[in-house]
Amino acid sequence: MNGSQQLFIPLQLTPGAEGVYLRSLCGADELALENTGIINLIHLLESLMSIGTSDNKINAAQIVTADRDRLMAMLYISLYGSKVESTLNCRSCNQKFDLDFSLDELLKHYQPPPVPVFDNGTYEIESGISFRLPTGEDELQISGYTTEDAEKLLLERCLLEGNPAADSAKVQLKMAELAPLLNMEMEAVCPECSHSQNVQFDMQSFLLTKLKQERPVLIREIHSIASQYHWSQKEILDLPRSLRKQYAALIQPEN
Ligand SMILES: [Zn+2]
Repeated sequence: MNGSQQLFIPLQLTPGAEGVYLRSLCGADELALENTGIINLIHLLESLMSIGTSDNKINAAQIVTADRDRLMAMLYISLYGSKVESTLNCRSCNQKFDLDFSLDELLKHYQPPPVPVFDNGTYEIESGISFRLPTGEDELQISGYTTEDAEKLLLERCLLEGNPAADSAKVQLKMAELAPLLNMEMEAVCPECSHSQNVQFDMQSFLLTKLKQERPVLIREIHSIASQYHWSQKEILDLPRSLRKQYAALIQPEN
């Protein structure tokens, strides 16, 4: 199918790759999203990364988590633009209000500092304490554990030299400094009652949730394209998302 574009997204923290190429998102990817968990996320990314055989040097699970956050932010921007809009329920007066911000600004603010990375992705805090940054492989290994156990296991996996019990705080602090995640608490002030509240924003689940919520639109688009052109479901699901939307937009005014 035509209309397919490759998106190159640079990686700053992942050893062995300067970036990854993604193919266009299509309906089959959107339809395959069942939840916003790590398995679905890696699966989606692996699928978007499977283009030419030699284009990507790494697989999706090998991408450092903090890099993957930025990758998902760039993917979001390519699909929706930089503006993030969400509606919140005020915890004090229970009125709905909007929280808007720019992902471009967020990315600028949470840029990892320019630190030289050794070729193998090892960071040394001091003599005898070294670590690597968590990747999707680590997250897949710890999924299903309680938050506390998962944190402990993750640290044990990433600590290359040192004592997990004694050095964990130091290592976690350094990791957060070198590779800030786009998973944060934001302050939102209700315009009705001026109550200030913290809101959790997680880039990866935000994007997957948004895509999942669009399923009724996707089904409507498949339906109208199928009714008009009589293409098979597979052909329609393989259309790049933007092209599918363009076809659907031509059909809808007529009905
Ligand atoms: Zn309020």
